Amino acid sequence: MFTSINPFTQETIAVYTAHTPEEIEQKLQLGHKAYRELLQIPLEQRRQWMMQVAQSMKDNADEHAALITQEMGKTLKEARAEVLKCATSAEYYAENIVEMLAHKPIGSDAYKSYVSYEPKGIILAIMPWNFPYWQVFRFAIPNILAGNTGILKHASNVSGCALAIEKIFSESNFPAGTFQSLLISSKDIEPVIADPRVQGVTLTGSTPAGKSVAALAGKYIKKTVLELGGSDPFIVLKDADLEAAAKTAVQGRMQNAGQSCIAAKRWIVEKDIVPAFTAEVKRILQDLKQGDPTQESTQMGPMARPDLAEELAKQLQDSVNQGAKLELGGTHEGCNFAPTLLTGVTNKMTAFKEETFGPLAVIIEAADEADAIALANETEFGLGAALWTSDLDKAAQLATQIESGNVFINAMVRSDARLPFGGVKQSGYGRELSLEGTHEFLNVKTVYIQ
Ligand code: NDP
Repeated sequence: MFTSINPFTQETIAVYTAHTPEEIEQKLQLGHKAYRELLQIPLEQRRQWMMQVAQSMKDNADEHAALITQEMGKTLKEARAEVLKCATSAEYYAENIVEMLAHKPIGSDAYKSYVSYEPKGIILAIMPWNFPYWQVFRFAIPNILAGNTGILKHASNVSGCALAIEKIFSESNFPAGTFQSLLISSKDIEPVIADPRVQGVTLTGSTPAGKSVAALAGKYIKKTVLELGGSDPFIVLKDADLEAAAKTAVQGRMQNAGQSCIAAKRWIVEKDIVPAFTAEVKRILQDLKQGDPTQESTQMGPMARPDLAEELAKQLQDSVNQGAKLELGGTHEGCNFAPTLLTGVTNKMTAFKEETFGPLAVIIEAADEADAIALANETEFGLGAALWTSDLDKAAQLATQIESGNVFINAMVRSDARLPFGGVKQSGYGRELSLEGTHEFLNVKTVYIQ
C-alpha cells in the first residue's frame, strides 16, 4: 500500500495498492512491445506525438498542478510552473531531436565511418517527490523521442503523480506501454533491474539510494545515471551586486520549501560584506510568507513529509549547539517549517557538512576569494555552484576551480533542457538533459563501411 498524505493538512488523499509481480511482468512485456513498435515508427511521427503531449500538458496544467500541490506541498504557482516547464521542454526536444540523433561522421581508414545513436529498450527511472513531474519528464522526453520506453518507480508519497504521468502518455498516440508507472516498494526493485528487457537505470534522490541502486545495476551490468544530493555553495564576493545576490540567494534556497538538489545550501560570503549581506537577506526572509500552498499569496508551502521536517530541525539544533547563531525562524509545526537563517556557520558544523533539504539558509564567512573557493569545495558533494562577482574574467577563472557539475555566475543554479545537468563526487555521475543527457541511454554504435 502507498498512502498519499497532504503535507499541509495531513489528510490522507488516497491509498494505492502495490502492483503484484504478475502485473509488473505484464508491464515489462508491454514496455518491451512498445519499444519494438517505436523502432518502426519514423522520428517525424514521434516528434509530432511529443508536441501533442506538450499541448495536453498545457491544456491541463491546472489539474496537474493541483495534484502536485496536494501530494507534496509546493505552492500552486510553483507546481504550475513545473508542469509548464515539462511542456516547453517537450517542445524543445521535439524541435531539436533530429539534430541530436543525426549520424556523426568520423574520418578513419574506412570508405565511410560514422556513429549512429540507437535506442536500447526499457529504461527504469527511480525518481523523487520534490519535482514529481519535472524529474520524470526530463528523463522521459528525450528517451522516448529517441525510441526507448520508460518505466517509473516514483517516490512512495507521490503515486497519484506517477499515475497521472502514465495517463498523459497512455492517452497520447504513442504505442501502449511507452511510458508506465510501477507502484512498487524500493525493496522489490532488484528483479526489475535484473530483467534483460530493462537496459538502463536513472535515479534521482539521496546518495544512499544511489549507492544501493548502482550496486544492483552493477551486478546486472546495467548502465546508470545518478543525480544525487548536493550542498551547493552560493559564493558572494565583495565586488558583487549585493542586492541582487541577496535576492537570488533567498530564492535559490527557499524555492520549493528548500527541497531541491541544487538549492543554494551554503551561502559563502566574503568577510567585508557579511554584515550588509546578512541585513539584506534577513529583510527579504522576514517578508517571506509560508503557509497554505493553495493560496496565491503564499510564497512557500510546507515540507513534503513530517520526517523530513524533523530531520531538518535536528540538523538546525545540532548546528546551534555547535555555535551557530539563529537569526530568524527555527520553528516548525508538522511539515510547516518557518524560513530560517543561521549565521556564524563554520565548516565544523552539521549545516555545513550535511545536505540540508528544507528552508534553512546559512551564512558562512570567508576570509578572501581563495578561502571562499576552498570552503565551496570542502564537501563530499559536487552538483552545482553559484558565484557572484562583478569581475567576469575573474569569475571564469574561479569557475574552473570549483568542483561541481555546473557553475552559474551572477545567477541561480537551475536546470534547463538545453544545458547538461548532473554532478561530480558524491552528487553522482552521468548527465541529464541536452545532447549529453539524450545520448546516455542510447547505443552509440560505430558503423564502418569499407
Ligand atoms: P530517497 O533518495 O530515499 O528517495 C528517492 C527515490 O529513490 C524514491 O523513489 C525512493 O523510493 C527511491 N529509493 C530509495 N531507496 C531506494 C533503494 N534502496 N532502491 C530503490 N529505490 C530506492 O529520498 P527521501 O525521500 O527519503 O529523502 C531523503 C533525502 O534524500 C532528502 O532529505 C534529501 O537529502 C535527499 N533527496 C535528494 C533529492 C534530489 O533531488 N537530489 C530528491 C529527494 C531526496 P521510496 O519513496 O519508495 O523509498
